[in-house]
Amino acid sequence: MNTSTNVDPSEISKFSALAHRWWDPNSEFKPLHAINPLRLGWIETFITLLGKKTVDIGCGGGILAESIANRGADTLGIDLSDKALKVAELHALETGASVRYRSISAEALAREEAGQYDLVTCMEMLEHVPDPASVVQACADLAKPGATLFFSTLNRNLKSYVFAIVGAEYILRLLPKGTHQYAKFIKPSELARFIREANLEIIGMKGLSYNPITQVYSLSDDTDVNYMIAVRKPLA
Ligand code: SAH
Repeated sequence: MNTSTNVDPSEISKFSALAHRWWDPNSEFKPLHAINPLRLGWIETFITLLGKKTVDIGCGGGILAESIANRGADTLGIDLSDKALKVAELHALETGASVRYRSISAEALAREEAGQYDLVTCMEMLEHVPDPASVVQACADLAKPGATLFFSTLNRNLKSYVFAIVGAEYILRLLPKGTHQYAKFIKPSELARFIREANLEIIGMKGLSYNPITQVYSLSDDTDVNYMIAVRKPLA
């Protein structure tokens, strides 16, 4: 696929329309706020963030990017929703977080800055793009040899359909209807194939489980719905 077309404009407008609500912890982005300390903590079990040159792909309003920057990483967030990036920039001004943002695709940045990053994160984004393998390849290209990368997305099975679409969008109304398209969910085996094809090595995997009764997310070994994969780019 031509990398300049690896974007679904309807996905970008969906996130742009909600952009002003990004930092409202009770908004549509509540789940991202809830999982952020968990995913940040998991990332820190693999690497120390201080001083790491980091790029966060599909950063949206900057929930993950800001938290990484606040740990002392030299952080760039990229997205194709200019509205989300504006919100991210304003929020960083307010909080004083030292993070930069750019409106550019992963593939285009990889052509400019190949091999420059110690840490690449790409979370809750792959299920919104037409060709996720191309984004994984771009992340691999951005990484230095020995760098660590993190991907997260939604698994594709009956349980993830029930939890992520029926439960989250229709019953609990955590997310607006139409936030996620089931067909674009990615099985761990598929993501693992994209990762292998990009010559990266998997070093860890975790589930993020939601308990609808307590309304609490936790890290778990249940990768049936939300899951994260940690990856290393081999040295040389
Ligand atoms: N990664 C953030 C935000 C996830 S929401 C977090 O986990 O907190 C998904 C984001 O992906 C949105 O901001 C959306 O604009 C962005 N996105 C969707 N398609 C994209 C593409 N092709 N290139 C870059 N960003 C994209």
